[in-house]
Amino acid sequence: MGANIEELKAMMAKKDARIRELELENMSLRSQLDKYQSIQSLQPAGSGMKSTMTGRARGVGISAPIPHLKTLQELTDKKYQSYKKSSASMELIRQAIMDNDFMKKLEEGQIKEIVDVMYPMEYAKGSTIIKEGDIGSIVYVMEEGKVEVSREGKFLSVMPSGKLFGELAILYNCQRTATIKAATDCKLWAIERQCFQTIMMRSAMIRQSEYTSFLKSVPSFANLQEDTLIKIADVMEETAYKEGEYIIRQGASGDTFFIISKGRVKVTMKEGGSAEDKFIRYLHKGDFFGEKALSGEEVRTANIVADDASGVECLVIDRDSFNHLISNLDEIKKRYIDLPARKQIINEEYKTLKLSDLRIIATLGVGGFGRVELVMIAGDAKKRSYALKQMKKNQIVETRQQQHIMSEKEIMEESDSPFIVKLFKTFKDRKYLYMLMESCLGGELWTILRDRGNFDDSTSRFYTSCVVEAFDYLHSRGIIYRDLKPENLLLDAQGYVKLVDFGFAKKLQVGRKTWTFCGTPEYVAPEVILNKGHDISADYWSLGVLMFELLTGTPPFTGTDPMKTYNIILKGIDAIDFPRNITSRAKELIKKLCRDNSAERLGYQKGGIRDIQKHRWFEGFNWEGLRQRTLSPPIMPSIQSHLDTSNFDEYPMDSEGPPPDDVSGWDEHF
Ligand code: AMP
Repeated sequence: MGANIEELKAMMAKKDARIRELELENMSLRSQLDKYQSIQSLQPAGSGMKSTMTGRARGVGISAPIPHLKTLQELTDKKYQSYKKSSASMELIRQAIMDNDFMKKLEEGQIKEIVDVMYPMEYAKGSTIIKEGDIGSIVYVMEEGKVEVSREGKFLSVMPSGKLFGELAILYNCQRTATIKAATDCKLWAIERQCFQTIMMRSAMIRQSEYTSFLKSVPSFANLQEDTLIKIADVMEETAYKEGEYIIRQGASGDTFFIISKGRVKVTMKEGGSAEDKFIRYLHKGDFFGEKALSGEEVRTANIVADDASGVECLVIDRDSFNHLISNLDEIKKRYIDLPARKQIINEEYKTLKLSDLRIIATLGVGGFGRVELVMIAGDAKKRSYALKQMKKNQIVETRQQQHIMSEKEIMEESDSPFIVKLFKTFKDRKYLYMLMESCLGGELWTILRDRGNFDDSTSRFYTSCVVEAFDYLHSRGIIYRDLKPENLLLDAQGYVKLVDFGFAKKLQVGRKTWTFCGTPEYVAPEVILNKGHDISADYWSLGVLMFELLTGTPPFTGTDPMKTYNIILKGIDAIDFPRNITSRAKELIKKLCRDNSAERLGYQKGGIRDIQKHRWFEGFNWEGLRQRTLSPPIMPSIQSHLDTSNFDEYPMDSEGPPPDDVSGWDEHF
């Protein structure tokens, strides 16, 4: 043997590294293959996949079951047991969290609570911890032992202790994509989604109510309404100061207002010719300073110095942001109109229509809960067709989406915009709920995009503008849409697009937020992933994503699985490479829509959605022509008759039998 022991060791280490590389490569190929296969299984029959690597499979909307706990009181009352842990265990869990791209984004207080409530679990060698295909709701951190990861019976890798796994389950019900078996006896720490989400919601709500009550004590805010205060509380940024640090300096001019949220500060002043700063007094949590700066530039009359060994935190807002926000709120309120009673007018025409009067022509699409059929009214002399969406009641109940379906119906029924698909009537029987809608026979924008690869600047502008009009209509009524994507944009006979599928739409009170995780992975905003609470500004984020997808054929944030996608989203738009064919104006608008901080997004500022319409990318665009429908569309769909379904993919027959009856009555008002 020529090689000495050191050389052999080096060779072994090299081989090990190569094996690891191959394992990783294998995993990545495997997940690409899986994605391809799952794409194939989602594809309707006969729809050719795009052969290039660009493009995206038709996305599936995801929604976590609506949490039972809603109010702050309910959330604070809900106590989860904390489990005693050694400081080494606590440190291990914390490290595992900090090692995970998603979890490490959580706030310090939230991480602390999570560490506290994680409970111990033990698995004997050979037992299964996570089974591929199962629906998961638990996330684990492994303290001792080794686990083996496999998929479809094939070994993928060995995971050592100190790792966190199964984290997608913390966001919503999801199928486990791999099997994890204990390779040795294992000791784990675990947390359930319900508990995690309660912690997230509770901390965000406590913070909101605490900040709002701080604001209430500030005299110049005394006349503002609660919802306005909530909005201000939302945009105030928390800034930390070390002991001794000057927060403001006497004589300097300033435009910032501060409220102390933690710790103590001291107020000092230089008087007369004295070189020394004279102590005036202390200020504590809930006290504020710099108030005058909000109404005009202020020359600071004193120093404010952090005076707390464990640091000081302040909520800070500057005059510009404050004014933007306040006038934006005024504008929103002015434009906040109550929904017109379109329901009554429309209902008259279809009042006597029965489900049995409808004749099915063909399938137009498949949604989360069932099929959408093209139908006619038997004996209708007018050449008209409709889209009938059928939803399986048992599936709605199983996925706890009852509330979403009721709000889908209410919002669509009351909406009256040329950019939103109209709902004419609803029906129900023992197994299904039905929605009779206007039919849009130009097909999905997704299909056209798939066939063309991408759109040029002006085509993208036209479709984006239709969405802006739809959003203007919805947002001015306090409705968030939450599921923007090309699959939900249908072309009508004139080539204009309309928003369809209001399964995730929700009416919000002004200034309020909502918490349910919903949307399609590539389109969800960071605050949705991070469970921070979201509002209409999440729609502006998705508008930026849509622009990018229309211009390039692929959304900006795309990973090989949802968790990877979420982690890419959390890195932000600045980490994304823009292909050259995106003009600088388009890029600028996308970046202004996809701001991490939801309060900074274009559309959510002083000028509201007008700011988007006025952006340079829309320069010269004929908005009035769009509203009057005199503007020529970029693509005129070919539709031979009111029964022509050639712009839709073909769908195989439903292979599942009829669903079981559900007569429990939850759908009484549908
Ligand atoms: P949904 O469950 O609402 O997402 O609908 C599933 C699919 O059915 C859509 O993506 C469309 O392809 C099709 N579809 C839904 N509504 C209509 C409509 N009003 N006109 C034509 N096709 C529709």
